Amino acid sequence: MELELTDEQQQVVASVRRFVREEIAPLEADLDPDASELAPEDHERLVGMARSMGLYGLDIPEEFGGPGVDLVTRTLISIEMAQHRAGLYAPCYGVFGGAGLAQLYEANEDQKERYLYPMLRGEKRGCFALTEPSGGSDPARAIRTTAVKDGDGWVLNGEKTFISGADRADFAITFARTDPEKGRNGITCFIVDTDMPGFRVRRIVHTLRSSHYATELEFDGLRIPSANVLGEVNRGFAIANDRLSRNRIPYAAGCIGVAIRAQEMAIEYVKHRETFGDVLATRQAIQWMIVDNEIDIRTSRWLTLDAAARAERGESFRTEAAMAKLVASEAGGRVVDRVMQIHGGYGMTKDLPLERWFREMRIRRVGEGPSEVQRLIMARDLIGGSFH
Ligand SMILES: Cc1cc2nc3c(=O)[nH]c(=O)nc-3n(C[C@H](O)[C@H](O)[C@H](O)COP(=O)(O)OP(=O)(O)OC[C@H]3O[C@@H](n4cnc5c(N)ncnc54)[C@H](O)[C@@H]3O)c2cc1C
Repeated sequence: MELELTDEQQQVVASVRRFVREEIAPLEADLDPDASELAPEDHERLVGMARSMGLYGLDIPEEFGGPGVDLVTRTLISIEMAQHRAGLYAPCYGVFGGAGLAQLYEANEDQKERYLYPMLRGEKRGCFALTEPSGGSDPARAIRTTAVKDGDGWVLNGEKTFISGADRADFAITFARTDPEKGRNGITCFIVDTDMPGFRVRRIVHTLRSSHYATELEFDGLRIPSANVLGEVNRGFAIANDRLSRNRIPYAAGCIGVAIRAQEMAIEYVKHRETFGDVLATRQAIQWMIVDNEIDIRTSRWLTLDAAARAERGESFRTEAAMAKLVASEAGGRVVDRVMQIHGGYGMTKDLPLERWFREMRIRRVGEGPSEVQRLIMARDLIGGSFH
């Protein structure tokens, strides 16, 4: 694939970079180091700017009002958008809008009216509820939540864990077993309103993340109308799988953006920090860390743009997206770790964004499918077979 950016891509990347550095970063200087939101007036002002730049709702398909930016350019933009303190948690604090839950683009017209359009207007929030206490790596086997047909609807019983944002969501895209005999072909996807009787956020799960966000959910005799089945009965696993593959590309891009920013900080720091009578930049041990960072960044960037280009061309990109996610999340962790080491004691403080990136980058080796599962996906594609 061609790695040289077009003039248009260069301009877009430059304007997002300026936006992040001139608008977002100065505001962060006055926020709590773990903040995940801007003050409402700042948010509103910056959303207006993003709209006037023609970059609002980047991931929304053109037919639903998005600006129609191709996936490679969106990936380049995602790399830029992550280059600030909250970049792994809230890239640009959502001022460029978001696609929300892409599964809803495939919903029927009634469901679009009730969930998709309100979500795109910012009136409703959703969450994605797949993982259960019995395991997230292999949801096809681990899903124990059941949905049993009852008259013109379904009755849901079970539990979910690690669900991001369910405590603030209006609805949950929820996967449940509808045929216990059929394995992955016995799972159905439901849109569950969080105010339906029987839905409960049992607990907030505290993680390395900067703010509490993961939740445990409980469904106790929750009645769902058939109108809330998303897609076909017993075909829900394909919906989950599709989302997981697509999300791996922006997920990788976020890791690359943070790694790029950390590397810039390191290069700047080593030119000025003196030890033993000379600047750190003259020490081979330090130079090699900088070089290793660059190798990690470029490898991740190339793999991620390659996955995006394949997806954009409509080719199979499962292996490439898994490879990009695996390499970028692991490489990003190494880069941030080296840059902390280069900054010595300052690298451990909350004065710098490094310790926040360190925590949030660690999650990225598990979230959206752990590294081992990415390897499993690639091995299946490379060798063939359905081993686990
Ligand atoms: C902060 C956070 C937010 C999350 N948000 C969401 C969300 O919004 N929605 C949602 O549905 N889920 C969410 N998750 C869940 C996440 O997707 C799962 O944690 C992940 O898929 C792993 O599942 P698990 O934790 O059950 O680990 P397990 O499946 O129990 O695996 C444990 C370990 O064993 C490894 N392993 C598993 N199988 C194999 C194998 N065959 N060979 C070798 N190693 C193996 C895994 O890689 C992992 O390291 C979130 C998780 C976190 C931490």
